[in-house]
Amino acid sequence: MSDPVVPVAPSPTAQLGTALADWMDPTVPAAPNEMVLPLPAGVAAAAATLGVPVPTLVLAAFVRVVGTLVGETDVAIGRTAAEAPPVLLRVPLPDGSWRDLVAAVRSSVAAAEPLAGPVDAGFGPGPAALAVLAAGASVRLRRDPARFDAGYAARVGGHLTSALSALAADPDAAYAAADLLTPAERRHLVHGLAGAARELPPTSVPALLTAVARSNPDAPAVSYQGEAWTYSRLLAAVDRVAGVLLAAGLADEDIVAVSCPRSPEWIAAILGVLRAGGAFLPVEPGTPPERVGHLLRRSACRFVLTGPAGLSGTGGTWSRPVAAAVSGDEPTVPVPDTPIPADRLAYVYFTSGSTGLPKGAMCEHGGLLNHLLAKIEDLDLGGDDVVVQSAQQSFDISLWQFAAPLLLGARTHVVARDDVLDVRRFLAAVVDGGGTVIQVVPSYLDVLLRHIEAHPTGLGRLRLVSVTGEALSRSLVSRWFARCPAVPLVNAYGATEASDDATHEVLTAPPAGDVPVGRPLRNVTVYVLGPGDTLRPLGALGEIAFSGICVGRGYVNDPDRTAAAFGPDPFRPGERLYRTGDVGRWLPSGRLSFAGRQDDQVKVNGIRIELGEVEHAVLEHPRVQSVAAVVAPTPGVGKALVAFYTSPDRLPPAELREHLAALLPPSSMPAGLHPLAALPLTANGKVDKRLLLERVGPADSAADDRPRTPTERRLAAAWATALERPAAGIGRYDSFFDMGGGSLSALRMVSSLDGLLSLADLMRTPVLSELAAAVDRARGKPRA
Ligand code: ADP
Repeated sequence: MSDPVVPVAPSPTAQLGTALADWMDPTVPAAPNEMVLPLPAGVAAAAATLGVPVPTLVLAAFVRVVGTLVGETDVAIGRTAAEAPPVLLRVPLPDGSWRDLVAAVRSSVAAAEPLAGPVDAGFGPGPAALAVLAAGASVRLRRDPARFDAGYAARVGGHLTSALSALAADPDAAYAAADLLTPAERRHLVHGLAGAARELPPTSVPALLTAVARSNPDAPAVSYQGEAWTYSRLLAAVDRVAGVLLAAGLADEDIVAVSCPRSPEWIAAILGVLRAGGAFLPVEPGTPPERVGHLLRRSACRFVLTGPAGLSGTGGTWSRPVAAAVSGDEPTVPVPDTPIPADRLAYVYFTSGSTGLPKGAMCEHGGLLNHLLAKIEDLDLGGDDVVVQSAQQSFDISLWQFAAPLLLGARTHVVARDDVLDVRRFLAAVVDGGGTVIQVVPSYLDVLLRHIEAHPTGLGRLRLVSVTGEALSRSLVSRWFARCPAVPLVNAYGATEASDDATHEVLTAPPAGDVPVGRPLRNVTVYVLGPGDTLRPLGALGEIAFSGICVGRGYVNDPDRTAAAFGPDPFRPGERLYRTGDVGRWLPSGRLSFAGRQDDQVKVNGIRIELGEVEHAVLEHPRVQSVAAVVAPTPGVGKALVAFYTSPDRLPPAELREHLAALLPPSSMPAGLHPLAALPLTANGKVDKRLLLERVGPADSAADDRPRTPTERRLAAAWATALERPAAGIGRYDSFFDMGGGSLSALRMVSSLDGLLSLADLMRTPVLSELAAAVDRARGKPRA
């Protein structure tokens, strides 16, 4: 088999193994590491109906079981028989019934190839990690004890028995839909692995905040750039924003766009919307007006709170600067302390959508409160903590970063974007602000850690680091603990559609294998699903789904895309289910392991992007004929989004970039735009993205293009390191961003130059020779 059957270490789920005593045949002595399963009634009759010997049916059932365990559509099984040389059977799993599967197994037997090496799954007496022997009226299942524990083998035995029973019951039923689980395993998957059940307190975030603020009026609530707002000042601002919105006619669940730079006012605006019974919609300042218009129309948003610069694209919508609301320049009404129910809409976050239009994920107060309480519980937050608010406001993690501490009388410390974009400044802001807890994406942690490794420095009061949004590699975890052994890392995994994080893994040392995403949060159930919403057995790969209070309402005014991802929970009546599109599996310890995406959704520096949205936006240019977007992994630097396009009349990349700037948020803007005469195709006519990935980067620089001045050479060397490519390939007319540079590699490059230039310089002047000239001018140096 190409993929090994999931190896299982000694398993705490052994109670599942003991449940199998029910169907083990005690009259047949089993060899050690071997179990005997009686053939279910009806198998012999089904064999006669299908015109095949019983062992062929057992083999077909085993193929089905192995296919589920490894999550592949081609199953390979070693077959050994006393009288013939061992062979390898390759069974492409057909669509259809057991009858079709039996036919596929028979053709694979006819086309068997000689067996070259050891196999994981075997049929017959030969060696295999897990082998099935069909003998008379029973089946033996043998395991290699070095590979599988008894509980795992017992569960596989249960799956095999279930598969044979289903086959015998109806050979014409769809074999993929058959449920293989024993009742004990099912109970464990639905209830045993779920997060702790805790009653949600009958309150809401605004009510808790109000109570905390009234009892700690003088404590600092929000600090930002040397200034601190006390709880009483914050609550007064929140109440004023709420009063202004109510005076303007806001009704329960009305959506209010909030678009002002992150600051104490921004926090007051969001909490004011919630306090007034509305739902907030974050809009990053600087979002292109066309996109603003789309977000407001799609969410039927009639109220906008802005920063001092206002927001273009809002049309005739009621729009006020937050500062005017807070300062009392706007008419206001008193805010009643009416309770806010758990099923009240709290917010809408728009995320990238594959069809070109962003999707507005709606979540309710119950999910929000549950998530905040889970953060408090799992990160052990207390009144002395200072949680750093550093995430961009379009990223839902920005919400807990300020809201969780405010439920405790603790402080949130807001770090401005410019400081986040320079790790030295970020670290200084965390330490100077007394930050105890931060949450960043792994690619940012990598940059931060490189800085700490190069310039060992104290971390002040920092006591916990959480990472989220992207897979956390073991090497990063190991490096972290090598440098900061006393600061735990919390891997948090979830989705905006389900109130942010759904699982937490608290790490205090590097794990033995892959880094898990952990266990479900309080009141959250996680499933790993197969086709037709069947539960995948423990250890088998499948789609990760969330259920419980965390699951949001779906996408705003978008019933089709809502129906595709949300639905009722088939295992817990009355609960909603959200399918993530992520692939994962359960580890024996009851932790979830994340294994990737099913679709085109990618993360670039932690921000979720659907390649379909980017391609769609490129195609909207009338002079573009075809397009393909790829994400080029650049180890240690994050990843770069690059689009290749064809244009019969040679549309220049700069013009395309301008067109895209009006349609896409900055996070979805490709770092590189490359015109091609034609897109390369694979043998079956699809765009060959592998080939495109090889072409990421500039054409070779011509000889006279080489860096000339000392500053150009110094910059080129820094680019080469940051972009992980040979310095010789960097020309003086190359643009950092066209070469695949993204915001993180830019950040790394800038910090490696120790203050020679700022990120803003690079953004303004991304071409090497121009940047070098600007640097020389600023330092008063003549050009050599
Ligand atoms: P969040 O709730 O953290 O804001 P997003 O909605 O932006 O997350 O993105 C959700 C997707 O991000 C998930 O479906 C998954 O693909 C990926 N993801 C989030 N957290 C992790 C993690 N800890 N490890 C691996 N992937 C993750």
